[in-house]
Amino acid sequence: MTQPHHEAEHTVAEHKHGEDCGHEAVQHEDHTDYIHDGHRHAEHGDHYDEH
Ligand SMILES: [Zn+2]
Ligand SMILES: [Zn+2]
Ligand SMILES: [Zn+2]
Ligand SMILES: [Zn+2]
Repeated sequence: MTQPHHEAEHTVAEHKHGEDCGHEAVQHEDHTDYIHDGHRHAEHGDHYDEH
């Protein structure tokens, strides 16, 4: 059985983070994270990584 390198719980299609999406944005090195319920989303292709 092959495991993905991470589990993506949220897709960009389901929620597109942006300036007025209601989540707090934080700059993280070369990208922007969005605070979501105790963790942070970082856009990665068609989904968000969580960290
Ligand atoms: Zn958002
Ligand atoms: Zn980040
Ligand atoms: Zn999340
Ligand atoms: Zn990813």
